[in-house]
Amino acid sequence: MHGTDAAASRVDSLIESDSSRCFEVFVLLSRRGTRRIVMAVQVSCRGNCLALRMLSRSVSHSSVSVESVSELDSHTHTPALFSRSAIGTFFQERPLLTNPFTQDALLRAYLQRHLPEQAVQRDLLLFGERLVSEIEALGRQCELNPPVLQRFDPWGRRVDRILTCDAWTRLKHISAQEGLVAAGYERTYGEWSRVYQMSKIYLFAPSAGLYTCPLAMTDGAAKVIESLGVHSSREAFERLTTRDEKRFWTSGQWMTERRGGSDVSSGTETVARRQQDGWFKLYGFKWFTSATDADMTLTLARITDRHGRSTAGSSGLSLFLAEVWDSDGLCNGIEVQRLKDKLGTRQVPTAELLLDGMSAQLLSEEGRGVASIANMLTITRIHNTVCAVGAMRRITHLCREYARKRAAFGKLLKDHALHVQTLSRLEVNTHSHTQVCVCCSAALECVCVCVLSGGDSRRISVCDGSVSSAGPRGEQKR
Ligand SMILES: Cc1cc2nc3c(=O)[nH]c(=O)nc-3n(C[C@H](O)[C@H](O)[C@H](O)COP(=O)(O)OP(=O)(O)OC[C@H]3O[C@@H](n4cnc5c(N)ncnc54)[C@H](O)[C@@H]3O)c2cc1C
Repeated sequence: MHGTDAAASRVDSLIESDSSRCFEVFVLLSRRGTRRIVMAVQVSCRGNCLALRMLSRSVSHSSVSVESVSELDSHTHTPALFSRSAIGTFFQERPLLTNPFTQDALLRAYLQRHLPEQAVQRDLLLFGERLVSEIEALGRQCELNPPVLQRFDPWGRRVDRILTCDAWTRLKHISAQEGLVAAGYERTYGEWSRVYQMSKIYLFAPSAGLYTCPLAMTDGAAKVIESLGVHSSREAFERLTTRDEKRFWTSGQWMTERRGGSDVSSGTETVARRQQDGWFKLYGFKWFTSATDADMTLTLARITDRHGRSTAGSSGLSLFLAEVWDSDGLCNGIEVQRLKDKLGTRQVPTAELLLDGMSAQLLSEEGRGVASIANMLTITRIHNTVCAVGAMRRITHLCREYARKRAAFGKLLKDHALHVQTLSRLEVNTHSHTQVCVCCSAALECVCVCVLSGGDSRRISVCDGSVSSAGPRGEQKR
């Protein structure tokens, strides 16, 4: 074989054996001056065999000898300085996420003042560590692996399964373990329990790959059941508010139909037919159901009489609780029409659902559906607020961190007065919104106590108006 052919074939075999060495091979040949092949071959470090084959063909026309190419073996693992120049040598140091609780002076000061319990401080500190070491990566995985709908099984049976990634399931387990819903109902810290729970949601949200969406609805459903005090849904309540990851349920909230999202009273066409056992079968079309992989849902429908007639308007709507899947993982009288192809929130499975005889139990009084589900709306709105402010805090945290690392015009951003002014504005905004959040959270457990004429007292929730006994001395007063 002619010397240059042998050299080309040697290059080929090197490429075959390890395509990740392509770039190094290219560099070595260039540096040896075998030929100035600094042509527009933007050879990436991995897998670009085609470009290297072109290179080896060029080598075969050059004067390189097989001996010189054989030296490649001993050289290809030493870093070649020139290789970096293809994309430059500067890489900006990234802003690092560190424990968001320890970074949050405002939250820590607030809790120090109102909820100074050591257990709370310790729990939030550990939770902050877990966010950085585990949860952040799970949230990212959810973004990269959006849910898909499996409509049929491999044998052609209709199954309508919503397949989510492992990280989404793991976030469900973590949510239970960390008591992200439970903490609001355990009431370990009395009137500050909600502040404690919402502090965790606020820290969790920016890392959670939108798992906060099902949590908001789960909390809302628990609140509705608790306020209505419905004995038959006791098990559902316990599952929604447990810390046991194996028992933990999430809930959906199915209100919106094609005719109306805001205007549910005239937009709801779903009907509920009473069954002999007292349960109902629901028929209708729900147009926007988020986190449809939930275990149960609350939904609105119009109860029909035996002639199939129902009452129009808000007074015709009742509230139902339904489990979404049966024990085999099949839908409870539901067809998943499609998953929404959304612009954002793509991690969350949001579906259009045909309710085709979904079994459900009546939760509210007949005709009191809208009033009864209102608590859920209040809770989910507060969750949304908390999550939005959590995102603001994370942004200010990372911006501050970045300003310590990024240099422009000869000094770090943190030393530019105008940049500091921008950061200060962000901080002030975040500060004031955080105050609103904690006030709203605190109000959820805020009660006023009325002392009745006989000395007895009643505890009235500011959030939902529910009334309970406050004990002889009204000790839960605030
Ligand atoms: C990402 C995402 C997830 C969702 N998840 C769920 C879910 O899980 N469950 C569920 O039930 N729904 C869900 N929805 C639907 C959502 O709740 C509705 O989109 C919302 O209620 C608005 O209803 P609509 O889209 O029919 O808009 P419309 O009611 O038609 O409103 C259109 C516009 O008019 C304004 N408007 C309406 N009425 C009035 C009024 N009286 N005065 C002044 N302005 C008014 C609205 O503010 C809005 O800007 C989701 C929506 C999105 C985008």
